[in-house]
Amino acid sequence: MEENFSAPNKSFLPRILQNAKHVLSLLPMIVTVYLQLFLYTVPLLTVIVLAREWAPTPYYWEQKWGTTLAWIDQNRRLALGFVPSFIAAIMYWLVGAIFLVFDFTGWMSKYKTQPGTNEPLQAPRLTKVVKCVLINQFVVGMSLTLLMHEITRLTSTKEQLDLNKFKELPSISTMLIHLAVFATVREVLNYYTHRLMHHRLFYKNVHKQHHMWSAPIALISIYCHPVEHIIVNAFPAITGPILMKSHPLVLWSWFLLVQPWSMIIHSGYHFPLFPCPEFHDFHHMTSTSNFGNLTIMDAIHGTDKQWKKSESYKRSFTLFGVKPAREIIKRLQ
Ligand SMILES: [Zn+2]
Ligand SMILES: [Zn+2]
Repeated sequence: MEENFSAPNKSFLPRILQNAKHVLSLLPMIVTVYLQLFLYTVPLLTVIVLAREWAPTPYYWEQKWGTTLAWIDQNRRLALGFVPSFIAAIMYWLVGAIFLVFDFTGWMSKYKTQPGTNEPLQAPRLTKVVKCVLINQFVVGMSLTLLMHEITRLTSTKEQLDLNKFKELPSISTMLIHLAVFATVREVLNYYTHRLMHHRLFYKNVHKQHHMWSAPIALISIYCHPVEHIIVNAFPAITGPILMKSHPLVLWSWFLLVQPWSMIIHSGYHFPLFPCPEFHDFHHMTSTSNFGNLTIMDAIHGTDKQWKKSESYKRSFTLFGVKPAREIIKRLQ
């Protein structure tokens, strides 16, 4: 695998300096990535601002949250162990169903990243995906959430378990800072765990299942071996909130954003204003490039070189009009 990092025979200090210089040269690209991430939080932030503005009484949401927190306190196992998995599953299938309509009708085929693939979508292939996703959601995911809840309960002091510290609603700036940290932690951990899955020890028995779809659809976002679901999907997404000891509302906002994000980048559709799926789509197409989510870790390690020479790279931008990326690029050539 190609690396941008310098050769091992160089002494330690010049290597560190060269690597630091390389990362610094990527700063404009990294800033652009975070600005794009901010763009994708705008719908959620708008809802929060409007909800606060249109609250019927001055402390309406604080009171509602106080009541919810009291209910959580009385029903901790149900509220923290089961409910999040159910809500995440409902959201997953809602987003998945919308994309399935596009897949079965061909209604949005002009936006497809790999035209002609899954047109029409084969029902037997889909049945396999549905079974696997349900297992990952309700057996693997739910067990993991319950286990984490029990470990926290058994290893924390009474003070640490006191939910009163979350009584205040988080500010928008706190939310944005925490979300940026979560995205960064996820990018780093997801890159290395995913790259590990491409090692011959894991690929054949674990990761190959996810790569059965070289032209992915939204529902295959968590179509993978349970080991992969824990190591590559859950661990990178949950580590940021654990490290930051985040407010539950920030944690839930994160999952509200990250799950549809992952489904969109697997959808096979490059829609206007939506997160661009070309980067991960290329990973499914080739299996040898693009291991992260945000493009940052691949730029640092040079594992995006193959992608940067491809047509997919030329189409890799947020669409701000209704014209498909494929058409825009064709006109420019
Ligand atoms: Zn994937
Ligand atoms: Zn992979």
